[in-house]
Amino acid sequence: MIFYGTSAAEGIPSPFCNCDVCENARKVGGKEIRTRTMFRIDDEHSIDLGADSYCQALKYGDLTKLKHVLVTHTHEDHFDFMMFNVRKMARVRPAEPLHYYLTDKAYDMVDFYCNNSPILKGTMQQLIDDGVVAFHKLEFLQTYKIGQLTVTPLRGSHFGNMGENAANYLIELPDGRKLYYGLDTGAYYDETYDYLKGQKLDILISECTFGLTTGREPEGHLDAFSCMDTFARLYALEAITDQTQIYLTHINHYTSTHAQLVDWFAKQCTPYPITVTYDGFVVP
Ligand SMILES: [Zn+2]
Ligand SMILES: [Zn+2]
Repeated sequence: MIFYGTSAAEGIPSPFCNCDVCENARKVGGKEIRTRTMFRIDDEHSIDLGADSYCQALKYGDLTKLKHVLVTHTHEDHFDFMMFNVRKMARVRPAEPLHYYLTDKAYDMVDFYCNNSPILKGTMQQLIDDGVVAFHKLEFLQTYKIGQLTVTPLRGSHFGNMGENAANYLIELPDGRKLYYGLDTGAYYDETYDYLKGQKLDILISECTFGLTTGREPEGHLDAFSCMDTFARLYALEAITDQTQIYLTHINHYTSTHAQLVDWFAKQCTPYPITVTYDGFVVP
């Protein structure tokens, strides 16, 4: 499992930004550089296929074996229509379409693309008919077998282009480990806590979008402080335990560098380990 990208929509450094965090990233490079969020579970499964997936594939592994893409939501940093045509232009590729999974109202995006020819130049229906890509609709709180994974989408409190709740995914991996992919989301809904209660997750991947930004309400996105509150409540519910590995991703440039976030989390006393990830981070 590799984090292909770990930033929010603007990336770090944002190409238009001269803030301290972005200037630091330009100077220091390495882990301070974050591209837009994508997570590769294994060769065949990814979560999102976003705005930077072309360059990420060059660095961390191509997409030739990719079969299934779980889409969190329809914001362009997570779901990039250009990749449909890029797959079509492959001269040698599997006959099977690349399967995309969109939850609830996010699926309306497929009709939107089919009916708005300026965006995909009228090719969307053709891409589907030619078997380049296929789209599947998921419902929240229903469990599906997708490739080698058992997948249940839960509602994140974050809204995509179609007004949909982002899908946060509870996933059982082929080796039996349980993973929750909690992004994008602000403060979890009670329904989400209810579903996660007692799950004893092996891995929790959480957004930490606003890093060390203080004084904000966790609306739409979390920060380090609301992450800590969320983890404490999940721990009380035995959704996570001492054995759960927590990985933070989807981090923006508002306040903190990677190094500052790592320092801050190292000082927190939690029974579960918390790791601030970076692009190319491999889950042990
Ligand atoms: Zn996002
Ligand atoms: Zn900046």
